Amino acid sequence: AVIAETIAVGSELLVGGRSDSNSLFITEALGRLGIEVRFKSIVGDDQADMVQVLKTAANRAGVVIMTGGLGPTVDDCTREAVAKATGRRLARRKAAFDGMTARLAQWGRTPNKGQLRQATIPAGATVVANPVGSAPGFVLAWKGATIVTLPGVPREMEAMMTESVIPFLADQLARSKQAAPQPIIRHTFHTWGLPEAEVDAKLLGLIPKGLSVDVGLLASPMGVLVSLTTKSGGAESVSGIRLASLVDEVRARLRDCLFAEGREAMEDVVGRLLCEQRRTVALAESCTGGLIGHRLTQVPGSSAYVDRGAICYSNQSKSEMLGVPVVLIAKHGAVSREVAAAMAKGIRERAGVSVGLSVTGIAGPGGATETKPVGLVYVGLDGGAEGSLTKEFRFHGDRSVVKQRSSQAALELLRR
Ligand code: ATP
Ligand code: MG
Repeated sequence: AVIAETIAVGSELLVGGRSDSNSLFITEALGRLGIEVRFKSIVGDDQADMVQVLKTAANRAGVVIMTGGLGPTVDDCTREAVAKATGRRLARRKAAFDGMTARLAQWGRTPNKGQLRQATIPAGATVVANPVGSAPGFVLAWKGATIVTLPGVPREMEAMMTESVIPFLADQLARSKQAAPQPIIRHTFHTWGLPEAEVDAKLLGLIPKGLSVDVGLLASPMGVLVSLTTKSGGAESVSGIRLASLVDEVRARLRDCLFAEGREAMEDVVGRLLCEQRRTVALAESCTGGLIGHRLTQVPGSSAYVDRGAICYSNQSKSEMLGVPVVLIAKHGAVSREVAAAMAKGIRERAGVSVGLSVTGIAGPGGATETKPVGLVYVGLDGGAEGSLTKEFRFHGDRSVVKQRSSQAALELLRR
């Protein structure tokens, strides 16, 4: 089987604050070709370090994909490092130069000295056109390995992978004398409402002995993610049909907590349902500070069903903007089932929409009382199938986790 490595270049990826997400996209794309990523490296903008990492990678893998450091600034030295590691000269290449100047001309610019350097490519390499940015990439064969070099900007890297690199590698695989590798197939399930251990218990004995499928569980503030991944070249490799029946089995077992599969997020599912049912929604958010509104409106076309949202933290705003009776807040406290219900009803009536959705809770770290701990959250829905509905949650985690979990709980109420 062909194995691959990724190398992420950039000192910013080593100092914290930014992580290498490019390799996630690359790993998935290669997996669909049956190419397994075995090592991932991250290296700073240091030429000698890059040479060392690249040589190591090219010696043990059939495909090496490097991203970053192709820019016009002095710290960008990937081209030089690849040339040095492979003993090639850097030379101006017409295909690279023309593509780059055409792109810059579109933006009304002419190349400066640094950008001219971007059109130099190691001798013998093939230029990979950049359809969205200025820096071209390149592919180079060296000692039996295919070295691919792409810009670090995720949008540019993704476009070049999809349009050029993947078709190129697929073609190379088809021509090679090796048997076609089994593609790595991955199916993901998104669950909400059960702790990781309970989701795990539901999956007990799922995979027959000897079948090469990995079951992965990943807990996050948005719920527990379950994945099925076929392994290439395992004991008994798995066909698409075999995996599909496992997918059905997981679906059945997770029935009560499954809200989405694949790339879909909760807001996508909710949006689709609201669209289908021709319902509209208005939000009253304390505790989540507009996060539910943000998530819902990240979905293209959401203006068809999102009417408005109110961020109501003070008691005064809850009564002024939502008509929550002052006495109700005085009696039960702002974080209560009663106030959540009144907030949802208030925003629904004022907006004249089908459903009102509300959250009130204690995100922490302060604000807790003896009876109301950090993480106590109420979500409310008004205008749903059951009329009015509220739910109580006791979340663990810091402020941001409580906010995320609260938004997920509220959207789940809307989905049900
Ligand atoms: P440019 O021509 O834009 O300078 P470049 O090839 O030099 O491209 P970098 O300067 O290394 O790319 O990175 C450009 C941007 O892409 C930065 O914001 C950087 O943080 C981001 N980036 C680089 N590598 C990665 C990575 N592996 N994962 C996620 N983001 C990345
Ligand atoms: Mg750069």
